Amino acid sequence: MRVAFIGIGNMGRPMVRNLIHAGHTVFAYDLSVAALDEAVRLGAHAAVSPHGAATEADVVISMLPTGQNVRDLYLGPDGLVAKTRAGTLLIDSSTISSTVSSEIAVAARAAGKSMIDAPVSGGTPGAEAGTLTFMVGGSAEDLERARPLLEAMGKRIFHVGGNGAGHTAKLCNNMLSGVCMAATAEALALGVANGLDPAVLSEVMRNSSGTNYALERYHPYPGIMPNVPSSHGYQGGFRSEFQLKDMRLAKQLSAEYKSLSPLGDLACDLFALHCQSGNGHLDYGSIIKMMMKVPEGAAPGAASADDQMRRAV
Ligand code: NAD
Repeated sequence: MRVAFIGIGNMGRPMVRNLIHAGHTVFAYDLSVAALDEAVRLGAHAAVSPHGAATEADVVISMLPTGQNVRDLYLGPDGLVAKTRAGTLLIDSSTISSTVSSEIAVAARAAGKSMIDAPVSGGTPGAEAGTLTFMVGGSAEDLERARPLLEAMGKRIFHVGGNGAGHTAKLCNNMLSGVCMAATAEALALGVANGLDPAVLSEVMRNSSGTNYALERYHPYPGIMPNVPSSHGYQGGFRSEFQLKDMRLAKQLSAEYKSLSPLGDLACDLFALHCQSGNGHLDYGSIIKMMMKVPEGAAPGAASADDQMRRAV
């Protein structure tokens, strides 16, 4: 398929690479020249504007930071809802509010185009490996059209409801993952303060009732997992400011529907403090720095938890 891809950042870059590997033709656009150069190096065609990319394509995929970016892309004066050919399928994979997403979908339908929200989970490791989880909101027919593209970038595709439902599911998930990351950091800090080795403690909790995604695949303590941001100075990955954005969106959703979210609200405030202290650009696992002192730049590939466990027993 011919795909316009807008937003070639930490997530967009590997997603573009996987689309190209699967045989699709990608027309890329990003505000950053460096990001665009990288897309060209991967085999994409560079466009000078979102419109330039979209006129070459049958499908548009966006992977942008905020709801405002996405709104401007589709609904602004040169917005893609107005400027694309009739029949174009629009797919937004950014994490934004379901309200903005639904608004774009309504405008798209009125202009003779289709739209699905398809936010993702799995982070940069999942984007690299092509194993992302997609949570899709929109019609079953539009999802079937998008499926070959989503399958090139991900492993699991859930159809969760009509337009906007994908974002609702994504915000529920990210509220939970933010709470889990903060709680995991807190438990590690408690153990280390009481003399435990963080690798041994992690192995214990991973095999006990406290296990979760942070412990299993995205460890926040440096040096325990070589290929995650904590072992690379918390660079790349999922920025804390994005985690905060998502938790604020979840909080908004919760207030709107008079739902209770005390743990989500508390974790949201922790991430706000973390970002206010100048850590917004660091991966969200860096929240552990709020709870304890961690070694700076621990060598990736340091003794694995299994090795340390063997030594400890
Ligand atoms: P990023 O900041 O690394 O990349 C965003 C890219 O968009 C940048 O290259 C930037 O130059 C470009 N950009 C910004 N505004 C633009 C515009 N108006 N037009 C064109 N390009 C523009 O962000 P990311 O980590 O790739 O995240 C993108 C989205 O995916 C966010 O909504 C985030 O919440 C979501 N997300 C991220 C992760 C993750 O682990 N990083 C995981 C799931 C979802």
